[in-house]
Amino acid sequence: MKSTNDGVILNNGVKMPCIGFGTYKTSDGDVCISAVKEAIQCGYRHIDSAAVYGNEVGVGQAIKECGVPRNELFITSKVWNDVRGYKNTLSAFEDTMNKLDLDYLDLYLIHWPIPRAYRETWEKENQETWRAIEDLYNQGKIKAIGVSNFKPHHIESLLKTATIKPMVNQIELHPGELQEDKVAYCKENGIVLEAYTPLGRGKLAEIKQMQDLEKKYNKSFAQLCIRWSLQHGFVPLPKSVTPSRIIENTKVFDFEISNEDMKIIDAITYDGCKGKDTDLIEF
Ligand code: NAP
Repeated sequence: MKSTNDGVILNNGVKMPCIGFGTYKTSDGDVCISAVKEAIQCGYRHIDSAAVYGNEVGVGQAIKECGVPRNELFITSKVWNDVRGYKNTLSAFEDTMNKLDLDYLDLYLIHWPIPRAYRETWEKENQETWRAIEDLYNQGKIKAIGVSNFKPHHIESLLKTATIKPMVNQIELHPGELQEDKVAYCKENGIVLEAYTPLGRGKLAEIKQMQDLEKKYNKSFAQLCIRWSLQHGFVPLPKSVTPSRIIENTKVFDFEISNEDMKIIDAITYDGCKGKDTDLIEF
């Protein structure tokens, strides 16, 4: 049986634990501190945060209090849409590190490719943002770098001036949202896919096929979603602030979904939690 510590190897040789703990909409302060500590206590070693989540202080506090050495943890943050360009990115990174109170970050991502404010100039702005992130990486302040919500053409644009290829693309992936074009591109280019909203924000519990499979496997829809993600080679990032669910979501290494049932899950159509067109976001 594998543990939640098992990892995927990124294209620079860094190992990333194969399940991450999501923190979007987790309130800063006690809620965040206890959720992240609970997660680490039950085996998660990978925490996904972002400047815009407003809880980097709580994530950092939990890391301090959890009793697990820093070098056994994998911590992600992301540069938000109001920040673009070389100098602004360096300052945003410094702000994130002050809030987390860490010496280095494991993974830093550009959160969205085309913020509304940069719709005309996004290519140049992303290239300059990436140049800053590359410099931080070369200085050893970040162990791995990547993007989020990027389509292939956003990555191609970055690569025109990049000296380092992104190691990760974090996108929305769950039953009903199998973004095949992005997945194929990233797999062909050695970019690891992180699956955000892997549980469809809990709403996949209502889908008949998931309910049937819950009975068949004696596993919850959440465990099936996480297992489906792992079997596709994604790194799922389930979020919860509920201790019983935090534990439940780690119990995914004692069963395997058959190929036939993977196809049933792949074929689910579900509009309850559809990803946004990342060329057209309004924020
Ligand atoms: P999610 O993980 O798919 O779902 C979280 C929701 O499901 C919460 O309401 C949670 O409730 C509930 N839940 C968790 N475990 C459950 C279980 N075993 N049974 C029933 N319900 C359960 O959604 P998400 O937060 O959108 O995505 C996960 C993470 O991905 C985020 O937290 C964030 O780190 C990342 N993300 C990144 C982006 C991006 O643009 N890069 C966008 C969205 C998300 P409770 O918390 O109340 O237990």
